[in-house]
Amino acid sequence: MVLIYESDPLDNDDARGRFYHVCRGRIDRTEIQLPADEKIYECAVCGIDLEAEDFWLARQKGSV
Ligand SMILES: [Zn+2]
Repeated sequence: MVLIYESDPLDNDDARGRFYHVCRGRIDRTEIQLPADEKIYECAVCGIDLEAEDFWLARQKGSV
């Protein structure tokens, strides 16, 4: 598991969820987003590449 998607049910005005990267098995509680002008989010710590498809799947399934 490298990516988690969470939506906050208490936050009705902002329906969008938040993405968190699981880095080396630990959840990094810093919200991440796919850069608007890039196709890949790259983690400098573990070196993983998260693509738009990964974000899309995480949104569907809750995690990837
Ligand atoms: Zn990482």
